[in-house]
Amino acid sequence: MSTDRNCQCTRCKNKHLESERKSVQDKKFSFASDLVCPRCGCKNFYDITPAKAWCRMSGVIGMGTADEQLDPYAGKPILFATGPHCDLTTRLNREAERAMFGWVVPGMPKAKDEKDAMVILRLWVNRCSYANGSRLARGVVFDLEVEA
Ligand SMILES: [Zn+2]
Repeated sequence: MSTDRNCQCTRCKNKHLESERKSVQDKKFSFASDLVCPRCGCKNFYDITPAKAWCRMSGVIGMGTADEQLDPYAGKPILFATGPHCDLTTRLNREAERAMFGWVVPGMPKAKDEKDAMVILRLWVNRCSYANGSRLARGVVFDLEVEA
């Protein structure tokens, strides 16, 4: 699994790998250094590494890089969305329910059984898929049939 993230500069929109960012000495603290955009020197970037989101029957949502192998421990993971890491995070913050440990699919933890849980998940993914393919979605696709 690669740990070299895909970065996009928040200022000049340049796309580069995290390993390509330049190290510069901090102006105030000589012992510190920053990794900056190789084109414009901006410190801030979006993490646009391809990512995927999945959930368990409990409704608990997990998120990781697209090539990550999912551990079948604690039940089979159900993939439901893919997209650039930062945009997928934004969408989950908006569409999913906040829990102490992260996100859950709204209503899914209260499902009567697995069949009920899948109905709740399907309805939620359908509702979230309204923006699929549009500029609004910024590359995020909600789909229960997404490839792992
Ligand atoms: Zn830049």
